[in-house]
Amino acid sequence: MSEKKRFETRAIELTHKSNSNTNPVSTPIYLSSTYKRNEDGSYNDELIYARHNNPNREQLEKAIAHLENGAHGFAFSSGMAAISTVLQTLKSGDHILIPDDVYYAVRKLLADVCSGWGIQFDLVDMTNLKLVKKAIKPETALIWMESPSNPLLKITDIQAVVEICKSHSILSCVDNTWATPVLQNPLNFGVDIVMHSSSKYFGGHSDVIGGALVANDSILSEKIKAVQTLSGAVQAPFDSWLISRGVKTLALRIEKQSSNAYLLAKFLESHPKVAAVLYPGLESHPQHEIVLKQYNGIHYGGMISVLVDGGVSEAVAVSNKLELFTTATSLGGVESLIEHRKSVEGPDSKTPENLLRVSVGIEHIDDLINDWKQALDSLVV
Ligand code: PLP
Repeated sequence: MSEKKRFETRAIELTHKSNSNTNPVSTPIYLSSTYKRNEDGSYNDELIYARHNNPNREQLEKAIAHLENGAHGFAFSSGMAAISTVLQTLKSGDHILIPDDVYYAVRKLLADVCSGWGIQFDLVDMTNLKLVKKAIKPETALIWMESPSNPLLKITDIQAVVEICKSHSILSCVDNTWATPVLQNPLNFGVDIVMHSSSKYFGGHSDVIGGALVANDSILSEKIKAVQTLSGAVQAPFDSWLISRGVKTLALRIEKQSSNAYLLAKFLESHPKVAAVLYPGLESHPQHEIVLKQYNGIHYGGMISVLVDGGVSEAVAVSNKLELFTTATSLGGVESLIEHRKSVEGPDSKTPENLLRVSVGIEHIDDLINDWKQALDSLVV
């Protein structure tokens, strides 16, 4: 086979090889924390100690790197641990630009923890390139993108921001959690680092917490590896195994979740008790044209934000009326979830008070639409 194999095939191949001489089809879980030295002091397969490396983690790291079209992958104990690792490669005095609706814990990490290390940051609307350029300072060392953003689903023109970064020698990183490599490969646009919360679509079943980074540059990758090993927030063997299992069905799940989300978004957009629907696949989405050039194909992801006609009480009433959408934080699992984000993000959040963030699962679309229909129809505005 001379042509590069397609995503679905690579996802299976990359996660079924095993190091064992018993030839299992499913990779065994290697729980050993340490490995026996050979008489000459060397180690087999460079396996020394599980904070440095582990066969399950290595398999996952290679798979995620490969699927992101990158050279070096790193798996962490959470998405936030992956983000912290990028921040730990910076130095005191550095400045970071982050999206104005970035996942709220990133803003909190920078404000409550990293400010104590002398790292400053500013929020900027990443969809407005003029504002991005204007916000750059001589100390700006990193531009953090999140596309789609959480929870407003704003789409950043990744290639355009990367060009700005390159002309100022600024490191660029994209949180690709919501798009996944099925829909979008930021490294193809010249980004330095891709980040994932693998707790979401990679895991896919709401039963594991994890994070990942992928980079191409070998010097940058050595820095990441050093922070990963020395700070130690590594992905555990069983969790690596669970996420590797998730990789096998990632494309299938994303296709189903995307088609469900598209049909649900269309239905919601036409409902009189819905003020607005934020979904990148809708022609009404302000950055729909960028999505068309930036995404890999015909799917637009499983996340929707719905602005219910009214305020907090109407939004919460609809959420409580839904029977198939569990009120819970997180996203990307096979089951549909819903959350009133402003309540979670706290009083300084700029998220509209009537916004419900919806993670669409793999249930039958007719049932999902009927559920929204009964919840919205029962609303008295
Ligand atoms: N990035 C995004 C876009 C997220 O939605 C989340 C979690 O919701 C994170 C990062 C943090 O990931 P984790 O919860 O795995 O630490």
